Amino acid sequence: MHITLQCLAVKAQNALSHKYVVAKDIKVDKFMHQFQLSDQTIMDISLRFRREMDKGLCRDTNPTAVVKMLPTYVHSTPDGTEQGEFLALDLGGSNFRVLLVRVMGNGEQKVEMENQIYDIPEHIMRGSGSKLFDHVADCLANFLEKKGMKNKKLPLGFTFSFPCQQTKLDESFLLSWTKGFKSSGVEGKDVVSLLRKSIEKRGCIMNYSGIICLGTGTNACYMEHMRNIELLDGDEGRMCINTEWGAFGDDGALEDIRTEIDRELDAGSLNSGNQLFEKMVSGMYQGELVRLILVKMAREHLMFKGKTTPGLLTTGHFLTSYIYDIDTEKLEGLASTEKVLRGLDLDPTAEDCKATRRVCHIISKRAAHLCAATLVALLRQIRDNKAAEKLRTTIGVDGSVYKNHNAFSRRLNKMVRRLVPDCDVRFLLSQHGSSKGAAMVTAVAFRFAAQQAERQRILDTLRLSRQQLLEVKRRMSEQMLRGLSKQTHEQSSLKMLPTYVRSTPDGTEHGDFLALDLGGSSFRVLLVRIESGERNNVDMHHKIYSIPQEFMQGTGDELFSHIVTCIADFLEYMGMRGASLPLGFTFSFPCHQSKLDEGILLQWTKGFKASGCEGQDVVTLLKEATRCKGEFDLSFVAVVNDTVGTMMTCGYEDCQCEVGLIVGTGTNICYMEEMQNVELVEGDDGRMCVNMEWGAFGENGELDDFCTKFDQEVDEFSNYPGKQRYEKMISGMYLGEIVRNVLIEFTAKGLLFRGKDPERLRTRGIFETKFLSQIESDRLAMRQIRSILQHLGLTGSTCDDSVLVKEVCAVVSRRAAQLCGAGLAAVVEKIRQSRNLNQLSVTVGVDGTLYKRHPHFSSIMQETLQDLAPQCQVTFHKSEDGSGKGAALITAVACRMDRCGQEI
Ligand code: ADP
Repeated sequence: MHITLQCLAVKAQNALSHKYVVAKDIKVDKFMHQFQLSDQTIMDISLRFRREMDKGLCRDTNPTAVVKMLPTYVHSTPDGTEQGEFLALDLGGSNFRVLLVRVMGNGEQKVEMENQIYDIPEHIMRGSGSKLFDHVADCLANFLEKKGMKNKKLPLGFTFSFPCQQTKLDESFLLSWTKGFKSSGVEGKDVVSLLRKSIEKRGCIMNYSGIICLGTGTNACYMEHMRNIELLDGDEGRMCINTEWGAFGDDGALEDIRTEIDRELDAGSLNSGNQLFEKMVSGMYQGELVRLILVKMAREHLMFKGKTTPGLLTTGHFLTSYIYDIDTEKLEGLASTEKVLRGLDLDPTAEDCKATRRVCHIISKRAAHLCAATLVALLRQIRDNKAAEKLRTTIGVDGSVYKNHNAFSRRLNKMVRRLVPDCDVRFLLSQHGSSKGAAMVTAVAFRFAAQQAERQRILDTLRLSRQQLLEVKRRMSEQMLRGLSKQTHEQSSLKMLPTYVRSTPDGTEHGDFLALDLGGSSFRVLLVRIESGERNNVDMHHKIYSIPQEFMQGTGDELFSHIVTCIADFLEYMGMRGASLPLGFTFSFPCHQSKLDEGILLQWTKGFKASGCEGQDVVTLLKEATRCKGEFDLSFVAVVNDTVGTMMTCGYEDCQCEVGLIVGTGTNICYMEEMQNVELVEGDDGRMCVNMEWGAFGENGELDDFCTKFDQEVDEFSNYPGKQRYEKMISGMYLGEIVRNVLIEFTAKGLLFRGKDPERLRTRGIFETKFLSQIESDRLAMRQIRSILQHLGLTGSTCDDSVLVKEVCAVVSRRAAQLCGAGLAAVVEKIRQSRNLNQLSVTVGVDGTLYKRHPHFSSIMQETLQDLAPQCQVTFHKSEDGSGKGAALITAVACRMDRCGQEI
């Protein structure tokens, strides 16, 4: 077996061909015009076969399809990295053989083989099944003994060339014996387990898990995409399909090209009505077709002076191998013809010999061209699967006719190229055919299994058990209590910051408000018009401004001066220059607040690093920057965290909303806590919204036992190593980076991209979190994943690579969603317990692109939450523009309260 881009294995047991031109013979050609198929007919047959393939692949039509398209459970073709020693048993070919195959893993795909042929005595072939398999095991033991490797554990491949129903790579049920075998008690049984039993009985030490069964009743197999194999679950990756194309035509699909002779041959065969395509193509029948034609022509006095002989009249007397000698380029062709005919006791004239040669020529040409037609259907299927303009592929071919007759292969190859000029097809003769194939399948399966185990071992470090998630929830609850308590607040990783928001909107708020939104991927200025009366009546205008990296990481003065410039621009844009409106400032960084309109920045997060801000009140910083500009005045009412904004926005529509969650660039949460628990603020009455700043969870080592080396790498190269550990495992800023680090590890270990280091992968940030959403989208086929990888400069990836990249993304995003769900479980449980409720019903307002766009994040998070907090009924409400609208709403609520002389 061999591979470039794709690998097809074809068994063409037949037909002949040649470059020389066999002189036309009017008499013969007239008699045989039905055997001569035009290119158009060949193309038409190809299209018919493609339809048959579809029928076989499709779940609904498979039961009645004649071309069965049997799954083989071979998922991968060799990639050149396989190596090691493998044993192969080859039963069902012309000899029974035991082979030792050494595959060099040096990238050259070099294979060394040693083999020994063993006899299978007649009485064993026809005796009991257990005798047969005992004999096979004996031969194997003898072989190992001879090679001095009696105690070595080697994977074993088993080529079992009888019709089988394969259910797994190492499970195959014999349908019926053929080729003279008739051992009892084997039909309907799994031959792998029978073999296994016999080997075990002998006490051989063998790696049984490695027995792989390769049925070779095949005519052609090819690698099909799992998503097209409807009979099997799963739609990722590929599997080798054994087409069983010999049965093509059994439902009448070839009636228009079958001749009287074909019908005669079929009628006289043992399996009349079956394998009709095979009967036109395969080596088993070619000689017989020629014989029947010669008999008929003789009877019609077109040959042999109208005479036949018992030799000519006997079924099977014209061997296909005669055709090899007759239909040859060599001059001896005619002499051979005469010799063959004389061997049948005929007395041919020179004209008879020429005519016979012409018959052989036409029969073999038809076979080669029919074989080309079905092959072309496979090639087209492969090309369409790849959606490639031009397909490059190699076809591995085996079979005595193909091997023994150059002209046949030439004719087959030529027709294939003529029918699919847009495919670059290479034909490769398979050496030692099926047995080496079995060893290679074993080698591939072992490489696959070993690599798969290693990949899973690595991915397992990123998988969390229910127990671990419960532990995350427990530790989160513990830190919440510590953060709320005056005594332990300082030591807690959760700051549990009071926000001075005590009330959610009641619907009577109204007026025009200005809002600023800083803390995500962009900076926005908004004008929000709230009309009293009906809820949902909020009109907004906004403009987005970018914050260049130099301001994010420069000085605080520069940053705030830039913000003021943006506000001035916005007022100008809205035609409101000089207006002084109440302003809410959504500032989504951890702030210590002692009142609503003050926020002392504790620490920058999410890529911000402007100097001179930490420890300062951001309202003061902004006021100063405004004063310096001297263009307008701002009346500050509230500093708001985006989580609070989100909660307020949803609370405006759903009064049960008492939690605000963000899963975007970063992640954070706020919820309404009982005042008596908020020890940092005086007073015990009512509730206050607490901004948990949960991204920092883990800074005291709470997540250390769940962190992987990938998390450590991401942390190490981040702006604030050691900080925001929970956020770094969950949010949009980091998930792509975690995936990138896993992919680097896989590549370094030779488990991805064939171990070739794609340099682009070393670029930090190149794997954006939005790619996770795209790759994990169920609608996205592997092909599209590949184009994403290509876009990332990761060229040369294979289908297996795409499957793996998707799995990595899924594992990383699942862990993020589960961690988030476990944290949320702690929060809702805290609310339930604070209120002494048996059951809590609460709504969570959520915002953030990761939550909203990722195809599975929200459902996995909710699943986890439900599992870990069964006493809470949690509804999720997606917030639309929470941080902007929310700031205005808080400002509006504050203004309303102010008007009534109350604190918000
Ligand atoms: P922010 O949190 O910055 O206010 P968003 O909620 O829009 O803003 O989140 C932006 C983050 O979401 C980006 O940092 C990016 O990592 C992530 N992101 C963007 N598009 C997608 C997507 N399609 N799927 C998942 N995550 C995304």
